[in-house]
Amino acid sequence: MSSASQQLANGVDRSKGIPVVQNYIGGAWRPSSGSAAVLVMDPSLGSQIAQLPLSTAQDVDAAVRSAAAAFPAWSKTPIKERAQVFYRYKALLERNLDELAALVHEENGKTMPEAIAEVEKSIEVTEFACSMPQLAAGEILDVSNGVECRIDRFPVGIVASITPFNFPLMVPNWTIPNVLVLGNTMILKPSQLVPLSAIRIAELLKEAGLPDGVFNIVNGAQETVEAVCDHPAIDAVTFVGSTKVARIVYQRATSHLKRALCLGGAKNHLMVLPDAHEEMAASNIAASMSGCAGQRCMAASNLLAVGQVDHIIKRLCEEARKIVPGKNLGSVISKEAKERIERYITEAEQQGATILVDGRGTHVAGKEDGYYVGPTVIDFVRPDMKIAQEEVFGPVLAIMRTKTLDEALAIENNSPYGNAASIFTQDGGMARYVMERASAGMIGVNVGVPVPREPFSFGGWNESKFGAGDITGRSSIEFLTKPKKTTVKWNPEAKKNWMS
Ligand code: NAD
Repeated sequence: MSSASQQLANGVDRSKGIPVVQNYIGGAWRPSSGSAAVLVMDPSLGSQIAQLPLSTAQDVDAAVRSAAAAFPAWSKTPIKERAQVFYRYKALLERNLDELAALVHEENGKTMPEAIAEVEKSIEVTEFACSMPQLAAGEILDVSNGVECRIDRFPVGIVASITPFNFPLMVPNWTIPNVLVLGNTMILKPSQLVPLSAIRIAELLKEAGLPDGVFNIVNGAQETVEAVCDHPAIDAVTFVGSTKVARIVYQRATSHLKRALCLGGAKNHLMVLPDAHEEMAASNIAASMSGCAGQRCMAASNLLAVGQVDHIIKRLCEEARKIVPGKNLGSVISKEAKERIERYITEAEQQGATILVDGRGTHVAGKEDGYYVGPTVIDFVRPDMKIAQEEVFGPVLAIMRTKTLDEALAIENNSPYGNAASIFTQDGGMARYVMERASAGMIGVNVGVPVPREPFSFGGWNESKFGAGDITGRSSIEFLTKPKKTTVKWNPEAKKNWMS
């Protein structure tokens, strides 16, 4: 049987032996002008799928010209008509769910159920965008006799989205439907590690009736992103990726006076109290640390074990041992990622931590060259260890023991990140205490992965996000539109006063 990538009809040039990924500009597939290239791998097998040329400033400029040419007609298309395209796109995502999931699984390495969930979340965010005509309606108020003030929302212009490897379909779809329904045109720069799902996104948008040029893809890496940040005709940049790059992109894009919203990395703390429901806490924490092989910005990374919770840790280890690489645990993205994750574990062990479940040296029969790390639980980690402070981005949980909840909160508050934090307890007062004091943008109570669902917005605090507002949900409307405030008086009887 041919793989999902072999079934791609467009977007890869197959005339050169290894398939070469192309850019999508003005509704057509075009070769990149870049001479340097990287390989696109199937990380679960450790085998090559395609080659990706790293696009240059010239390619970015071609995409910008295409988006600029499409902007006048698209931005003037009534919002209800723009939304109609996304009703059809949503139906196409549903119809092609299995094929899209197979592509995500192949290029990212996550399991098929996780890839299916990624498509389902893409469908949910598209459904939200279909409600934009209701949500983005303007405001109007009689502010005096015969005088009205109104606010109308206008698209910002050309929006560029730069996305990471861990959700090749969902993170692009965090922005695409909202950006386009609100009347902007767009350039997507997918992760160079996972460019294939974006090819199907472009095809499905076209099939849904999106006019050519409204959505464009430029593939590449650092040079491409720098050209995006520097291009004077790009009005807004969204970025999702590591904190190191989020900071660079935010500074560079805003130095060129663009709007920027840059989501970065994470180090999420889960706190568990002795009264927590044992089964619920253990299974949620195990799922949070291991889902998508720990390569989620919402993954549990540190467990703050408050007081006597040995029974929950024992149960958690039992749950972790049920997670089997190659079966219900996917691969990590690359050989380098596997080595980096294993280094963190070994260093923690050398510094005196206790490895309760060890995922190092994992090999999967039949997938010997795949990049697998088994679930790993490490106890008696100290807050000053590297593994307690840095983003590991693998299926690894570091447990720190504390005597009090305040001590646990102090550790959480001390982290430079601030994406998610959770508390496991049956005590509403304790939960409320954490909800108020945790320094993170997304809080869970007895929830291991507290991702807000639409219409609630997604976004962290501190160094997990640079820029104001959130990237999805209602909050995205502010970022993706410009409000125009108009004051209107038609009749002379409107009284003159200090406001006239
Ligand atoms: P990354 O920062 O390496 O890459 C993200 C994007 O930036 C890619 O498109 C890449 O091509 C580009 N890029 C890489 N280096 C660059 C540079 N020096 N200059 C300009 N552009 C550059 O991130 P990744 O490894 O693809 O993704 C994993 C990271 O993303 C993790 O840190 C994870 O926590 C984070 N993430 C955050 C969220 C969130 O919502 N906060 C969501 C998903 C992933």
